[in-house]
Amino acid sequence: MAAVRLEKVRKVYPNGHVALKEASFEIADGELLVLVGPSGCGKTTLLRMIAGLESITGGTMTIGDRVVNDVAPKDRDIAMVFQNYALYPHMTVRENLGFGLRLRGVAKDEIARRVADAAAMLGLEERLDHRPAALSGGQRQRVALGRAMVRDPAVFLLDEPLSNLDAKLRLSTRVEIARIHRRVGATMVYVTHDQIEAMTLGQRIVVLNGGEIQQLDTPMKLYEKPANLFVAGFLGSPAMNLFHGTLRREDGLRLVMKDGAIDLGTDSAALAAYVDSPIIVGLRPEDLLTVADHAGLDERLRAHVEVVEPVGNEIFLNMRYAGDELVSRVPPQSAVAAGSDVGLGFRPGRLHFFDPATTARIP
Ligand code: ATP
Repeated sequence: MAAVRLEKVRKVYPNGHVALKEASFEIADGELLVLVGPSGCGKTTLLRMIAGLESITGGTMTIGDRVVNDVAPKDRDIAMVFQNYALYPHMTVRENLGFGLRLRGVAKDEIARRVADAAAMLGLEERLDHRPAALSGGQRQRVALGRAMVRDPAVFLLDEPLSNLDAKLRLSTRVEIARIHRRVGATMVYVTHDQIEAMTLGQRIVVLNGGEIQQLDTPMKLYEKPANLFVAGFLGSPAMNLFHGTLRREDGLRLVMKDGAIDLGTDSAALAAYVDSPIIVGLRPEDLLTVADHAGLDERLRAHVEVVEPVGNEIFLNMRYAGDELVSRVPPQSAVAAGSDVGLGFRPGRLHFFDPATTARIP
């Protein structure tokens, strides 16, 4: 096992495209780190650079205590699992699992032992003599994982390994991967564009956008204290509500917008610096509450309910306020009806503030 360290790592493709601006961070030994971001943000490029499949334009990449900038993929002690599992169709599961080891000249009984161990861990014992065509998508993905596991690499690299599975299988295989990580205790780097996958699997998450690291933190930290508007909008579904306006000090701090004003009911030195300046106030849907559902809550604004969406254990209220769309997540027993006006308040201490010029969080 090994830690992976990046120091000022950059990637510029030959056509001049900057895919990774300058990344410096460390993946701890045994950590499951997720790289997440929208299409084209550079996450696959970064993973392929760790694998050695893409050259490093600048900076230093270290795996364990070895600088690997110029080390070939096969000598990096890594194993990669791709989204299209690339199994050999003419080989059985057993042969697929053992193939890489055979190429490396590992002794037959050692191969058999490692294949049996991996098959047991992945619940594939009954399938060892089947060919890939006879397996379900989830089983194929587990074989692909098993092929990486039998090599006992220092670092596992997974590139959207669940994206070819249907929703239900994706969920169970995701849990499987978390379980395997816990049992094997290996360093894993996991690429996905799916925020739920990132939040549920990652011990820490790197959020990338436009080749730049936006934030590297634990899932809860990212959700509770997004470093900027991009992270605030990328994680969380429905997305965070954003109010654009000017901060004024009247009785207390108020956000004054084109068609309305909200008493913020909070104050801080950092905010005081923004009085009479534009500011963006963010509030997650679960922190925007109806006064009717929450006794004692101060009414901060009134919104018009356009669409009521029950999703089982809660209801999404899609509303309009001062020209903007708002979403609130309310309890399933809420009696709010479409077409009505509702008074809304905030869960105390849950407002997020952002600087509209830099998009950075105001602490
Ligand atoms: P996706 O989720 O769509 O795979 P990604 O975040 O993994 O996206 P990358 O595949 O790393 O993104 O690509 C990052 C950027 O670099 C993209 O703008 C892409 O078009 C560009 N890119 C990728 N490979 C090359 C290449 N060989 N030459 C030039 N540009 C490239």
